[in-house]
Amino acid sequence: MYSIYAVITWARLPPALFHLLAVILHQPTHPDSGPLLPNPLLQLPNPAPSLDRIRETITACELCPRLRDYCTRIGEVRRRAYQEDVYWARPVPGFGDPRARVLILGLAPGAHGANRTGRNFTGDGSGDFMFPVLHELGFASKPRAISSDDGLRLRHAWIAAVVRCAPPGDKPTPQEIRNCSVHLAAEISALPRVRVVVCLGKIAWDGFLAHLLLTGVIARRSDYRFAHAAEYTLPNGLHLLGSYHPSLRNTNTGRLNRAMFARVFVRARELAGLA
Ligand code: SF4
Repeated sequence: MYSIYAVITWARLPPALFHLLAVILHQPTHPDSGPLLPNPLLQLPNPAPSLDRIRETITACELCPRLRDYCTRIGEVRRRAYQEDVYWARPVPGFGDPRARVLILGLAPGAHGANRTGRNFTGDGSGDFMFPVLHELGFASKPRAISSDDGLRLRHAWIAAVVRCAPPGDKPTPQEIRNCSVHLAAEISALPRVRVVVCLGKIAWDGFLAHLLLTGVIARRSDYRFAHAAEYTLPNGLHLLGSYHPSLRNTNTGRLNRAMFARVFVRARELAGLA
């Protein structure tokens, strides 16, 4: 059974028409345009759309005008160090191994990282901290992520974010997180081998819990408290792990160090049956 939301989301609609239909169907599209209510239209086609189709849909998405304007503006102004670069400046889809057993979930693209390169955690300080660990543990083919065509491949892992457009100040609104949850739901539905979800930071944790609530997997968020190295087994058998986000704010202050971060991914390997 295809819901109306699924049809407008996964049909090949131009962004303006996508936005108009979302408004008609009462799907709030502005960050402040409505309360955070469960969305009864948030159902996906069965079988799931392909990862290629999901990628196309994400990169064409215009549901959050504030974020789309911000990403475009950042891409026009550019940071001095990247004046020669052509910024991606579009929503950033997830990437990795379609047979992934571990889903790594971040907050959102960095304004001059993934919003520039078009790939999550690529070309910024968070990625410079994370990829050496993923490489050491066998999840990434290289310890550095520089550009979307640098040849880096993930093994057993998929990297995505709860918000696919860079937000000002790294602070998406609750409504923007909710708007973007359809893309997370789509990617999850297309990654049937995932056994472990590692949430990087509390916003990613809360965004994933919101997805679990909407899909009826959990009844209450309060049963799952975020902490570094927090670990839960969900009613559907998935394992949920928490980690502080590898942002420069955390890694430069010592709140998160390499050993702490690596321990979470060693545990992810164990829980995913990869140890
Ligand atoms: S944040 Fe997500 S829902 Fe909002 S415009 Fe970007 S891709 Fe679309």
